[in-house]
Amino acid sequence: MRVFTASVATETNTFSPIFTDLRSFTDTFYARPGEHPDTPTLCSAPIIACREILRPQGWEVIEGTATWAEPGGLIAKATWETLRDTLLQELQEAMPVQAVVLGLHGAMVAQGYHDCEGDLLRRMRDMVGPDVIIAAELDPHSHLTPARCEAADLLVAFKEFPHTDFMERARDLVHLTQSAVEQRIKPVISSFDCRMIEVLPTSREPMKGFIRQLHELEKTDDKVLSISVIHGFMAGDVPELGTRIVVITDNAPEHGEALARRLGLELFDFRGRTRPPFLSVQQALDQAESSQQAPVVLADVWDNPGGGVAGDGTLILHAIMARGIESVACGLLWDPMAVQLCFAAGEGAQIPLRFGGKSDAKAGAPIDAMVNVKSLVRNAQQQFGESLVPMGDCAWIHWQGIDLVLSSNRCQSFDPTLFTTMGLDPTARQYLLIKSTNHFYDGFEPIAGTIIYVDAGAPYPSNPKSNGYQHLERPIWPIVENPHHA
Ligand SMILES: [Zn+2]
Repeated sequence: MRVFTASVATETNTFSPIFTDLRSFTDTFYARPGEHPDTPTLCSAPIIACREILRPQGWEVIEGTATWAEPGGLIAKATWETLRDTLLQELQEAMPVQAVVLGLHGAMVAQGYHDCEGDLLRRMRDMVGPDVIIAAELDPHSHLTPARCEAADLLVAFKEFPHTDFMERARDLVHLTQSAVEQRIKPVISSFDCRMIEVLPTSREPMKGFIRQLHELEKTDDKVLSISVIHGFMAGDVPELGTRIVVITDNAPEHGEALARRLGLELFDFRGRTRPPFLSVQQALDQAESSQQAPVVLADVWDNPGGGVAGDGTLILHAIMARGIESVACGLLWDPMAVQLCFAAGEGAQIPLRFGGKSDAKAGAPIDAMVNVKSLVRNAQQQFGESLVPMGDCAWIHWQGIDLVLSSNRCQSFDPTLFTTMGLDPTARQYLLIKSTNHFYDGFEPIAGTIIYVDAGAPYPSNPKSNGYQHLERPIWPIVENPHHA
């Protein structure tokens, strides 16, 4: 048996000024065929799962390109077409194959392409014909389109947010692919449109219990092969924006439709009560200053590069400085120019530095301070579950009781290793200010005294009612109160 496996992924915030070109991919993660490292990345886990599961059974695993760009704005048309055609060419050369296993994200949008993944899957289907199994792993912060459901046999999304299970779901996908190729199952995709958009962390109730129920159903219902929740991605202005349930049955579409509908309406009932409370900046600092449990983790939820924004916002830092709060460690703040100046000055130098606030007028002004350059690390990395995330060259600077890690790569704050790799001990600080909506949770929760989610109001388009979608065509909650009866 022969399987072709590859990965192309990013998450497109169509409102973001950080446009995405080929360099955004090559700078973040780009492995040529056969050059994928042993460690999986978030969206390339299916390649590792194919090596792990299929190779020992004598399958020939033909690896294509694997690439990932940090979430950002719209992908340039030529960039998308180049990446797509690279994978199509590799598949053409790999044929004949019995299966295609892809690591996608599901929220890629390019100039002229609302549905990049659907475009890729459809072209691959046209190339391999109806009998080859096409399977893809998706991030739940994805869109689900009819083109994808028609072209693919298997679509499996990570169940957890934070996405701690990307490797396990990749293994599920590869096991199902093998069963389908060996004709032990006949996968059929059913889906239900929940007609809502919401932040759905699974580290807390009610989503935690809902995910437990999905695992249980997969084990006990013998018609069900896989169940996924597509959370949707509210910063991607596309016609299909929104939450959906995907049920894959062993050739039992009526059962699949009914189950997807039941689960979808149950999930719709959770709307408005899935998130932890988000506090305004002043409320959050009041609560932080009165907290007895250190360190207090302050999560800047709407300046999270994981959602495609710049990650150089300064609104909360300015508020901290205005109050004279000290013993603060902050990271990451994206500013490659400031990092370069710190490297030029060297460790131990004291320099006047302007940093942050360069990308979006809504996200705060730059900060000017006389800073100490405490440490400099080339190609620094932080941990995220089983994978390592490149932060680029980084500088740890200090001024007025505040320690800050500046990064050259735009990436969200996943894990305390972002501080320790610089030589900074986060547990010795009273306050930790990080940029992440929810992915930080598994990494920071074990060292946190308290966690406070801070809503600084910018720059992410966090309010569907006022985001001004141009392409959304259906009524969805919270824009419409009851879209199922609209
Ligand atoms: Zn995601």
